[in-house]
Amino acid sequence: MLTQIHFLLTYACNYECDHCFLYCGPSAKGTFTVAQIKEVLAEAKNLGTVEWIYLEGGEPFLYYPVMVEGLRLASEMGFKTGVVTNCYWASAVEDAALWLGPIFETGVEDLSLSDDAFHHGDSEESPAKRAAKAAAKLGIPGGPICIERPTVRPPAGGKGEPVVGGGALFRGRAVEKLTEGLPTKPPDAFCECTHEEIVAPKRVHVDSFGNVHVCQGLSIGNMWERPLSEIIGEYQAVNHPICGPLSRGGPIELAKTYGVELDGEFVDECHYCYLVRRALIDRFPEYLAPRQVYGLAEEGD
Ligand code: SF4
Ligand code: SF4
Repeated sequence: MLTQIHFLLTYACNYECDHCFLYCGPSAKGTFTVAQIKEVLAEAKNLGTVEWIYLEGGEPFLYYPVMVEGLRLASEMGFKTGVVTNCYWASAVEDAALWLGPIFETGVEDLSLSDDAFHHGDSEESPAKRAAKAAAKLGIPGGPICIERPTVRPPAGGKGEPVVGGGALFRGRAVEKLTEGLPTKPPDAFCECTHEEIVAPKRVHVDSFGNVHVCQGLSIGNMWERPLSEIIGEYQAVNHPICGPLSRGGPIELAKTYGVELDGEFVDECHYCYLVRRALIDRFPEYLAPRQVYGLAEEGD
């Protein structure tokens, strides 16, 4: 049962983090208009099961008035709302309160603040800490999100395989920037999808191109071509050309189904899955989209 819709309000971001699984950055395209947000919210209402609307990106504060309007509209329609931000705007606690005031007035219930070295270096007084202080003063609920550079720990008790920690997901730019030197396994080890509920998703991400993602870059339909409520209502993983094999036997089944052979070994399920999907992108452009989240130029660019 779908309970959350996460708007990728924009793919644009003032940062270009190594761990970004959407390849966001200053030149990334794709931002919602207010009219598009209204269309999605109306469809979310039609579904009857959606409780939460999140606005994230990219960096949603880059489109501040549109973000605030999106939160206001969602709240007015009875949804609980949340925002995810990298906090670049929190240059001082007092100034951060000015940014957060209009958001507070919309009744936002979850403010997630990226607070780690990827975003802000190792400084003690990061923008996220300033934003957190301002949010606390205003009484906005929420908390930090912290992703660390991958670390390799020996297995517990000295048995088994080393553990890769840090919390980064190996998709998007993280595959290009963070996988080198980490322990790997052969493709046969990856026989289930471990990080997203692709059979019965509780949340989807939507972008301004119309893609409805069950995992980053894995679309179950285009909501500008078919109503979102219809896409969700009719979705069955087993009938989807990518989610079907993934749900049957994980990334290795996807590769076998379409004869994708990649050399080497891979850090985890998502690392292998992402590369298999990228190898299939020209065959399934409708389902593996948009190309920019695979680090590829859009056609015609
Ligand atoms: S991880 Fe967040 S802050 Fe970093 S580039 Fe991606 S969207 Fe921007
Ligand atoms: S990248 Fe593939 S294996 Fe990882 S969560 Fe997404 S669909 Fe599942």
